[in-house]
Amino acid sequence: MSVKEQTYIMVKPDGVMRSIVGEIIKRFETKGYKLVALKMAVPSREHLEKHYEDLNGRPFFAGLINYMASGPVVCMVWEGRNVVLEGRKMLGATKPSESALGTIRGDFCIDVGRNVCHGSDAVESAQKEIALWFPEGLCEYEKPTVSWVYEN
Ligand code: GDP
Ligand code: MG
Repeated sequence: MSVKEQTYIMVKPDGVMRSIVGEIIKRFETKGYKLVALKMAVPSREHLEKHYEDLNGRPFFAGLINYMASGPVVCMVWEGRNVVLEGRKMLGATKPSESALGTIRGDFCIDVGRNVCHGSDAVESAQKEIALWFPEGLCEYEKPTVSWVYEN
């Protein structure tokens, strides 16, 4: 659980269209995590199929790729202690109807096929996703507030 743990968070096309980008960034930023990469992208279907390769063959796969290819996404890498697991908690359950109020999905969406955001589900998948979405690398810098976020 290093302070340098990183997760890949993405605002999906519906989140962009519905103007939830700032809200999602704000939640990670004000929690105390460090933003180390951020960009908009219109990914190709091939790129999306790679990102979701574990779900290939599921009945909703074609619809998922259509949805994700329907507009721009906002790609981010957030860094901090236990950020993969905590980020998943902040997103809420995959199905918005099962997401607690107070989570991003619990607060901002209704349908599993329009659930506004993505977050890596494990440290290993985070590393794969970061390499896939940010082959150019991340932004390295020190934040002077680190001792205000972490005791040690
Ligand atoms: P996540 O890690 O919480 O995003 O969930 P998964 O990795 O299981 O699924 C990836 C994405 O596929 C989800 O965020 C949903 O957008 C979509 N998805 C998952 N399950 C379903 C489903 O049963 N129906 C539909 N339409 N989409 C689904
Ligand atoms: Mg997933």
